[in-house]
Amino acid sequence: MVKGVKTLNEHQLIQEYFSEIGSAFLVEQGIRVPIGDDAAVISSPKGKESVISVDTSIGGVHFLESMHASDIAYRSVSVALSDLAACGATPAWFTLALSLKKYDPKWLSDFKKGLEDISAELKIPLIGGDTTKGNLSITVQVGGYVEAGKALTREGARIGDVIYVTGCIGAASSALDNLRGGNLTRLDKNRYLRPKIRFEVSSKLLDIASSAIDISDGLFQDLDHICKASKVGAVICLEKIPTFLSNSLTIDEINRGDDYEILFTSDKSKREKIKRIAKEENIPICEIGSINEGDEVDIFSPDGVFLKASSGYQHF
Ligand code: ADP
Ligand code: MG
Repeated sequence: MVKGVKTLNEHQLIQEYFSEIGSAFLVEQGIRVPIGDDAAVISSPKGKESVISVDTSIGGVHFLESMHASDIAYRSVSVALSDLAACGATPAWFTLALSLKKYDPKWLSDFKKGLEDISAELKIPLIGGDTTKGNLSITVQVGGYVEAGKALTREGARIGDVIYVTGCIGAASSALDNLRGGNLTRLDKNRYLRPKIRFEVSSKLLDIASSAIDISDGLFQDLDHICKASKVGAVICLEKIPTFLSNSLTIDEINRGDDYEILFTSDKSKREKIKRIAKEENIPICEIGSINEGDEVDIFSPDGVFLKASSGYQHF
């Protein structure tokens, strides 16, 4: 039901903006009943496990309402997908629960364009959702598959493992500053508006990584989640953290979040394999530290000084 969104009936709105997104991929993703019925029906591939996650993006918190509606849509789906990548899953479908202040056809068709872009990029259809009236809020549920028993979790880090990170850190938060200041560069688009999720790399890490997490709230904070789940500690060399600038960033700059890179641990014996993946996918994968017997994240400056981690993004 479109609760209270007037001037267009609910059926027409869904039909016009949502029902066709990614419909070309329904068959290959095993969607037997798509949008239009009470629920989607999915046939799961043999030998695989389903991986499911949901994320809500709120205007002013997770994106700026001044952003182009197509970027708002793309980013909202992208950040939800990041959790699937962290598990090493391959994405298959998404649903959308959308709350809108008013019926605005221009905004909605731009929004639709962003959904189409990410849907086409990853071959994932939109298979259901809900539309309500209220402050702009976008909840995206994503589903995918991973070979049974192989999903990456936060739990498996072992003492002596190497800690790696994909891509570079701090670029998204600097892009957000540029966006707020009204001087967005072309590169900022990928960094903040349309983050690219590392599915190519993460799907190759299934037998290689011992634990993994996506960096949403800040590198040190997210690494701490691995440490707590795996009951280990970590030691990080600040100068090894790859940044998009030639100069190194401060701990606070590194920990601002929104990077949507993959942070993972792996046994030393897998070093060469990881180098090969980085080369094949043309994505930097840097060693930034190692796992130890402690219970927290210790950071060292280039001259060996112990530094205290900031707390990263706090939701409350
Ligand atoms: P119900 O009342 O049975 O929950 P709705 O009338 O809300 O169904 O929705 C009708 C169909 O349209 C359902 O298949 C639902 O999944 C889909 N749908 C509604 N809103 C959206 C949306 N924002 N995005 C994608 N699909 C949607
Ligand atoms: Mg129903």
